[in-house]
Amino acid sequence: MNAPNEKAIPLERQREVVAALRRKLPEHCILFNEEDTRPYECDGLSAYRQLPMVVVLPQTEAEVIEILKTCRELNAPIVPRGAGTGLSGGAMPIADGVVLSTARFNRILKMDPYSRTAVVQPGVRNLAISDAAAKHGLYYAPDPSSQIACTIGGNVAENSGGVHCLKYGLTVHNVMRVRMVTIDGDVVELGGEALDAPGLDLLAVFIGSEGMLGVVTEVTVKLVPKPQLARVIMASFDDVVKGGDAVAEVIAAGIIPAGLEMMDKTSSRMVEPFVKAGYDTNAEAILLCESDGIPEEVEEEISRMSEVLKSSGATAIAVSQNEAERLRFWSGRKNAFPAAGRISPDYYCMDGTIPRKQLAHVLISITEMEKKHGLRCANVFHAGDGNLHPLILFDANTPGEFERAEAFGADILELCVEVGGTITGEHGVGIEKIGSMCVQFAPHELDAFRAVKRAFDTAFLLNPDKAIPTLNRCAENGKMRVTGGQMKFANLPRF
Ligand SMILES: Cc1cc2nc3c(=O)[nH]c(=O)nc-3n(C[C@H](O)[C@H](O)[C@H](O)COP(=O)(O)OP(=O)(O)OC[C@H]3O[C@@H](n4cnc5c(N)ncnc54)[C@H](O)[C@@H]3O)c2cc1C
Repeated sequence: MNAPNEKAIPLERQREVVAALRRKLPEHCILFNEEDTRPYECDGLSAYRQLPMVVVLPQTEAEVIEILKTCRELNAPIVPRGAGTGLSGGAMPIADGVVLSTARFNRILKMDPYSRTAVVQPGVRNLAISDAAAKHGLYYAPDPSSQIACTIGGNVAENSGGVHCLKYGLTVHNVMRVRMVTIDGDVVELGGEALDAPGLDLLAVFIGSEGMLGVVTEVTVKLVPKPQLARVIMASFDDVVKGGDAVAEVIAAGIIPAGLEMMDKTSSRMVEPFVKAGYDTNAEAILLCESDGIPEEVEEEISRMSEVLKSSGATAIAVSQNEAERLRFWSGRKNAFPAAGRISPDYYCMDGTIPRKQLAHVLISITEMEKKHGLRCANVFHAGDGNLHPLILFDANTPGEFERAEAFGADILELCVEVGGTITGEHGVGIEKIGSMCVQFAPHELDAFRAVKRAFDTAFLLNPDKAIPTLNRCAENGKMRVTGGQMKFANLPRF
């Protein structure tokens, strides 16, 4: 069945592109029949769907080069795709475009315990790196909740984060080198195996570029020693304001926990029957604060964090007594998104970042927005990073509810900008937040992004129409950023 607003596949163009690809790739690497391409119609943002014209599944860098050169010659857009777990529509196909899936490009090429690095192909799953490094007592620190499925190529493109990124950094802090292919089929290496690399530092530009600058074909990641011990505190609060303030207090006390996460009552009630994590379902907010390191360090930090949490008004505190209990405490937080599916037919996961001291204010404002939009919202946060994940609950079968959920989401992102934060935390802009980019950035800033895109991809063929809106689009949406009371380009039509 076609998704609403899905564009028809241009069949003649499909034949032309498939014929050209067949001259370069083995037959089994090319999919174009609907029953084969339908599984690629969306990523984790399933409200938006489009059948791709062609899907290609390269297994080598040489094949990636041929695909890109062919698409460049034919002027066919390309959408790179990892596991398709992205939540902002970054891997959503284009009706006359080619999806380049890395599903079969998934070998770990080197595991070096001496330099504590691993060299992997882009389709390797995040968790598979840690599993392979475990025999050396090492692991890959960034741990998105989707780590069982998402790929390192997708992580690089989204600069993904996770529970442990507060202490260990995001993807950008844990990737040393990326090898990628440009739209012209040239191979470029960014970064290197040493702490600093010669030349312009384009690695940081590339990480988080959402598949718009090149296709990742190899990644060197840093590995870190597995901590001897990890323990987590579960603290209950009878007031979200106290919970939000406690987060700021922990950091202000000079502690960098290995993880500092917050869930509101809607979230803990949603998740508890699902995983039985032992959450206090009467608490207005629950904080999970982890410490890891050598046992002495952990004991000291757990005791300091407990003191701060108590003085911030925690009504109950439980500390994990063994690894099984630690994993149980975390299981609720890690399963919050799937648990939303138990209480609502659909949910819309937002992703914004705010200064930590604004947590309480933003939570209260979201409660008010629930009334305005007539929808419920469950809040789970990477609180230590100020990274919000409000889950807006709706039913797509009820006319108007999806539009209300979208408007609710846009209001949350505008609030994030208003309090000094950003419209993305870790899920990227994709197609989902492209309108909100106009709230965050002024036209000349968007121009600078476009200039970087042009420098890598003159023809705008790599993942076009994602992440960077055109000026016209900002004007169409009526979302131009206002600076100092003055709207830039005030002469442009706003509707
Ligand atoms: C249940 C759930 C929990 C999640 N939790 C987190 C979380 O805690 N933290 C977090 O950061 N994210 C989270 N995510 C979002 C998502 O998992 C991440 O964004 C992840 O990095 C996407 O990886 P992927 O392989 O699925 O990429 P895809 O979704 O396939 O693609 C994502 C983007 O990367 C580009 N891309 C993919 N491969 C390549 C490549 N080889 N070269 C160039 N570009 C490429 C695509 O074009 C697209 O723009 C979650 C998602 C789900 C469904």
